[in-house]
Amino acid sequence: MKPLNQLLRTNIQNLKPYSSARDEFTGEAAVFLDANENPFNEPYNRYPDPYQRKVKGKIAELKGVDTSSIFLGNGSDEPIDLLFRAFCEPGIDNVVSIDPTYGMYQVAADINNVEVRKVLLTEDFELDVDGLLDQCDDNSKLMFICSPNNPTGNCFRESDIVRLVKQFEGIVVLDEAYIDFAPAKSLLSKLNEYRNLVILQTFSKAWGMAGIRLGMAFASKEIVEVLSNIKYPYNVNVLTQEKALELLLCENDKQLWVEQLLNERSRMEKALSQFLFVQKVYPSDANYLLIKVIEPKAVYDFLVSKQIIIRDRSTVSLCKGCLRITVGQSAENSLLLEALDQFD
Ligand SMILES: *Cc1c(COP(=O)(O)O)cnc(C)c1O
Repeated sequence: MKPLNQLLRTNIQNLKPYSSARDEFTGEAAVFLDANENPFNEPYNRYPDPYQRKVKGKIAELKGVDTSSIFLGNGSDEPIDLLFRAFCEPGIDNVVSIDPTYGMYQVAADINNVEVRKVLLTEDFELDVDGLLDQCDDNSKLMFICSPNNPTGNCFRESDIVRLVKQFEGIVVLDEAYIDFAPAKSLLSKLNEYRNLVILQTFSKAWGMAGIRLGMAFASKEIVEVLSNIKYPYNVNVLTQEKALELLLCENDKQLWVEQLLNERSRMEKALSQFLFVQKVYPSDANYLLIKVIEPKAVYDFLVSKQIIIRDRSTVSLCKGCLRITVGQSAENSLLLEALDQFD
């Protein structure tokens, strides 16, 4: 890895971050007259903790990491965007990414006017490690790897990911949004070993909290400091912090949801592969299944007519004929299977 100050944009290195009232005094006090808040309507009258200390404390405990290596944002979307803003000089720097993968990396790149160099996965959806490294030059600042990958559903080999982390001179952003559904272990335990690794996780999937918008980035203390310096001061609101704390105490519920979804996933995998028009059900390490069918648009439209919505991925690289189906509750999945029976 290059030294962090060679990777960062100069304006970000030189930035003097906004200092809020809550930055300058953080302890307990009887009277707060420092932030021009309305004294009525407790507790929503108060600005939220800009560093989300309570939530981070709980996450640190749960994940076995230090609070200083946690960044929290408005979904994973926020750290993705902030990484571009911190490291990529618009019109000059580039990022390297796999193809197909999650669409948000490209959108964030486009918003920030940064080139994305895409490297196709192999035919069996594995990483082309040498291909990815070949695309890197002196202006390659970030590399996006999503594992389990959306939409292909598979985890990549840890040895391949580690080789990228070791050989890439910039920062590897490993998106583990679906890691709770995978047999593979998170690379979180390697965070101290690899200073150029940023791991993204989210409350939107296994935790069932897509609506509260809370994403996590785990990284070295130095990288977390950079992201914290450039975020909106109060990026995670009071309601979200409260709800997250509440749900973090119910880890058992999350575990039960995951178990049920994994059972449903294997039921769906078997059932879907029985249909004559289904050519392939790809193995999944996530909470969705990618299937290849003969007429994706016809299947999609038929399901819409039955008020069942799935995702047409048939125009995505390597995914010709493919549909992506989220694993729902048992009754929902049964409705899908019954509907497909009528298509068949
Ligand atoms: C769903 C998803 C996320 C989650 O995004 P949030 O902004 O946290 O809701 C992140 N990465 C991938 C690959 C996803 O599919």
